[in-house]
Amino acid sequence: MDFSFNEEQQLLQETARRYALTRLAPEMPRWQTESFAPEILKELGDLGVLGMRIPTEYGGSEASYVTMGIAAEELARGDFNVSYFLQLSAISAKLLTNADEQIKQQWLPAIAAGQSTVAFALTEPSVGSDAANLSCTARKDGSDWVINGEKSSITFGGSAQGCVVFCRTGGPGARGISMVFVPLDLPGVSRTKYSSAGGHLSERGSLFFDDVRVPADHQIGEEGTGFIGAMEAFDFNRAIIALAAIGTASQSLDETIEYTKQRETFGKPLATREGVAFQIAEHLALLHATRLLSYEVLARADAGLPHTAEAAMCKWLGPKQSVEAIHACLLLHGWTGYGTDLPFVQRLNDVIGLEIGDGTPEIMKAIIAREAFGRGFNSYK
Ligand SMILES: Cc1cc2nc3c(=O)[nH]c(=O)nc-3n(C[C@H](O)[C@H](O)[C@H](O)COP(=O)(O)OP(=O)(O)OC[C@H]3O[C@@H](n4cnc5c(N)ncnc54)[C@H](O)[C@@H]3O)c2cc1C
Repeated sequence: MDFSFNEEQQLLQETARRYALTRLAPEMPRWQTESFAPEILKELGDLGVLGMRIPTEYGGSEASYVTMGIAAEELARGDFNVSYFLQLSAISAKLLTNADEQIKQQWLPAIAAGQSTVAFALTEPSVGSDAANLSCTARKDGSDWVINGEKSSITFGGSAQGCVVFCRTGGPGARGISMVFVPLDLPGVSRTKYSSAGGHLSERGSLFFDDVRVPADHQIGEEGTGFIGAMEAFDFNRAIIALAAIGTASQSLDETIEYTKQRETFGKPLATREGVAFQIAEHLALLHATRLLSYEVLARADAGLPHTAEAAMCKWLGPKQSVEAIHACLLLHGWTGYGTDLPFVQRLNDVIGLEIGDGTPEIMKAIIAREAFGRGFNSYK
C-alpha cells in the first residue's frame, strides 16, 4: 500500500492551500451577501481545478479522482463552499460524457474555464431521498423533448447557465427516468433563490420548467438510464464532499491549536489542559481516519473498482466528523468563537448543508446496509 502523493500532487496541495488561505479565506465573509465574483471563478479555472475531470480535448486536464480530492480538501481550508464549483464541474463532466458532441464542445470548455456552471436537478418538492419516484416529465413532441415540472434545492439553481434535468420519460420507478440537458435561458424556465444558513456561494434554489422545449439530441445517454447516471455521479462525489468537509475542519483545528497555545486561563495555556488537548487529539484522529477512507474511495474510483459502500461511509462520516470538530473549535474559542468575526459559525452552517445534500446520513447507512445484507433486505423500499 502506498499512502503518498506524487510530486505533482504535492505541488498542487501546496499551491491550493496557499491560494485558499491567502485569497479565498479573506473573501469568504463577502459571499454571505454577494454573488461570487466572476474573477475568482475565472481564477479557479486558471488554477485548473474546474477542469480536472474534463477530457483534455475539451479544455480540461483529466486528472485522477485522487488529485481532485486533494484540490477539494485544500481549497475548503479557505472556503468550504468553493468545493461546490469543483463538485458540479466534475459531475457535469461525468454526465455529459454521453451527451451530443455539440453540447460537449459548447459547455465543457466553458465549465473548465470558470465561465459557465451546470446544475444537477434531481430533487423535487415531494421527492428527495426517494428520488426514483420523481414526477418532472419530458414528453416527445415531433423532434423535441417538452419538459414540465419543478426541481428543488438545486445547487447553483439561482445562477447556473445549464442544467442536467432528471425527467420521467417512461413508466414508474428508476427505469423510467432519463437525463435531458437544458440551457437555462430558454423560454419557460424560471427560478427562485433560497435563503439558507450557509452555503451561500452555491446559490441553491428551485428551477421551474413550463413547456420547455429542447431538441431530441439534448437527451443524454440512452432513454431510461438517467437514474443510473445520477447514482454513478454520486459515488465519487461523496468522497469529494467528505474531503472538503475534512479540509474545513482541519483548518479549524489548526487555528484552534494555535489559539489554545496562546490563550491562558488560571495562569496556564489552554493547550496544557488534557480536557482541551485530548478533545483536539480525538478530532484529529477521527478526521484522519475518514480522510484515508475518502482517498481510498477515490483511488478505487481511479482503478475502476467498486466503491459504493465506502463512498456512503465517507459521505456519512466526513461531514459528521467535520461538524463535530468545528463545533468543538468554536467552543474552545469561548465567546469570540460564537461571533461572526471568526469563521467557525459560518463553517458549521456551511458543512451542515452537505450532511443533507447528496444524501442524508440515514440514506448513507441504508446504502451501507444494502451492500452488506444484500438487496433483498433493502431498508428504503
Ligand atoms: C446544501 C444542499 C445542496 C443540495 N444540492 C442539490 C442538487 O444540486 N441537486 C439536487 O437534485 N438536490 C440537491 N439537494 C437536495 C438533497 O439531495 C436532498 O435534500 C436530500 O436527498 C434529502 O431529500 P429531502 O430533503 O427531500 O429529505 P427527505 O427525503 O424528505 O428526508 C427527510 C428526513 O427523513 C430521513 N429519511 C428519509 N427516508 C428515510 C428512510 N427510509 N429511513 C430513515 N430515514 C429516512 C432523511 O434522512 C432525512 O433526515 C441539496 C440539498 C442541500 C441541503
